[in-house]
Amino acid sequence: MEEYNIETNCVQAGYNPKSGEPRVAPIAQSTTYYYEKGEDVAKLFDLEPGYMYTRLGNPTFDVVQRKIAALEGGVGALLTSSGQAAITLAVLNVCSAGDHIIALNSLYGGSVNLLGVTFKRMGIDTTFVDTDISEEELRNRIQDNTKVIFIETLTNPGLEIPDIEMFVKVAHDNGIMVICDNTFATPIFCRPFEYGVDVIVHSTSKYMDGHAVSLGGCIVDSGNCNWETGRYPGLTTPDESYHGVTYTKDFGKSAYIVKANVQLMRDLGSTPSPLNVFLLNLGLESLHVRVERHAQNALKAAQFLEANEKVTWVNYPGLPGNKYHAMAKKYLPKGTSGVISFGVKGGKEAAMKVMDSLKLASIVVHVADARTSILHPASTTHRQLTDQQLKDAGILPELLRFSVGIENIDDIIADLKQALDQI
Ligand SMILES: *Cc1c(COP(=O)(O)O)cnc(C)c1O
Repeated sequence: MEEYNIETNCVQAGYNPKSGEPRVAPIAQSTTYYYEKGEDVAKLFDLEPGYMYTRLGNPTFDVVQRKIAALEGGVGALLTSSGQAAITLAVLNVCSAGDHIIALNSLYGGSVNLLGVTFKRMGIDTTFVDTDISEEELRNRIQDNTKVIFIETLTNPGLEIPDIEMFVKVAHDNGIMVICDNTFATPIFCRPFEYGVDVIVHSTSKYMDGHAVSLGGCIVDSGNCNWETGRYPGLTTPDESYHGVTYTKDFGKSAYIVKANVQLMRDLGSTPSPLNVFLLNLGLESLHVRVERHAQNALKAAQFLEANEKVTWVNYPGLPGNKYHAMAKKYLPKGTSGVISFGVKGGKEAAMKVMDSLKLASIVVHVADARTSILHPASTTHRQLTDQQLKDAGILPELLRFSVGIENIDDIIADLKQALDQI
């Protein structure tokens, strides 16, 4: 499917019906598969392709996995029940107790917690670094047991953009892989494999699903990582739990993604539901159209906010004055998502007033779907913290996170204006 442009792949990749079959990829809502003879099932256990149980594979998953692999330009993909599950599997596929990770400290909060607390409890240590860390400093953080450098293309919610090529260079010079969470950018705005990233993870719950209807995640394998650096014995030595296969020898370029499926998905079972995957596929069909509108609307909303006297600051990488504007031009030239954060005069109380006064934009603990939404972290997700603690955590009391939808931009701006007029 790579012969087509990305817009065509959003709509068509992954599914080629034969004459008389359903035009739309059907939902295989079945945990199990029918076989005529025992011999046919035995072959599956000898690693012949086919389905045995939905935890290990499903025809609906296969369609969407092929589509997302085509969108990112990878050799294969694995769908999971959530973005958190995708990150968990992507990391555990190469890390175990005693290993070390380097990650951005501005990653999605759920990832910071997963790496910094839960994985730490399991004996996997993470060093958190600034998005704009220098090359030299990054080299100094590498240890003999470092297995992964973990970045986000466009961080949620800080909207910081790392110099992907610099992180990749330092990692590869040391025989280490790079995992990149591409949730906010989506492959429409950035394809991290083109900059040397080895594995991509997604929370498909955001722009990919796009309608806030189904939670999901995905891991995509570039097929380009060199596993023979001595750091990844799990891929290069026999797996006793799976017939003694050696993934690099038996599966070549697909070693990583096959291992994630047949070993970790088998054991941890973070499987999505076929119905959710069907809904994700509908979202993907319009991904390229939606994210372009999200970004156009967000840029106009950010420009409006910047010019409004009640607004003290606006964080949107698409604005020329933004700290990450140069990185945005390099890595995200077509757009920097629909998410903006901004501060208002009058601190916490004023921010709450603005949030409560909005009519079109609704209050939700979610971003990146078709409907414009807002959240005031200081009075919701982080309400237990004092003003000083909020500042230490980088969450300013007056900060509002605004996720610009695909409604008419004049209506979105009019709504912002009337709400700001209340303070
Ligand atoms: C939401 C999000 C996640 C977590 O995904 P879930 O589907 O909610 O589990 C991970 N990374 C980023 C960047 C996200 O925005």
